[in-house]
Amino acid sequence: MMSPTHIAAGVVIATPLTVLAPELAPTVALAAMAGGVFPDLDLFAGEHRKTLHFPVYYWGLVLPAGVLAAASPSMATIAAFFFFLSAAVHSVADWFCGGNELRPWENTSQHAVFVHPLGRWLPPKRLVRWDGSPEDLLLTVLLSLPGLVLFSGPVRTLTAATLVVAVVYAAVRKRVPDLAPWLAE
Ligand SMILES: [Zn+2]
Repeated sequence: MMSPTHIAAGVVIATPLTVLAPELAPTVALAAMAGGVFPDLDLFAGEHRKTLHFPVYYWGLVLPAGVLAAASPSMATIAAFFFFLSAAVHSVADWFCGGNELRPWENTSQHAVFVHPLGRWLPPKRLVRWDGSPEDLLLTVLLSLPGLVLFSGPVRTLTAATLVVAVVYAAVRKRVPDLAPWLAE
């Protein structure tokens, strides 16, 4: 899935706080958005879907972060918990997308996301055929609704901006390998 989908999913994950702790909700949602995009920073350094994608190890951080947030609830501990939770969900969600190839619609890659404790790649499930596919964009639109409706201020603004990026990305996605050949390296 494209980064905007994961960013929007982060807001969805943080949405219960709008009821449980409304005063914390905006900051926690921003932390969850950051956690949602964080694994994809390995697009720029290292190996995509391996270097910063941890479908198992992030849960090893979610658990103690959750215990800490419950034992000592504060803006920092709760934000940290949602950051790791969002990154963990992202890493697992990519398993259901296409492979990490330059043109994922060609279905040649068997590499969805790397599982470090097993030392191997999970094969893509292709429920979302590729990042920026029509179903991926639909997912971004649906997941953006809480950010647009239930939040205001920076969370709503960032959600709207992310949605614009998603629409543009989905529109040009199949031309990206030709427009930006340096991405192939
Ligand atoms: Zn990813």
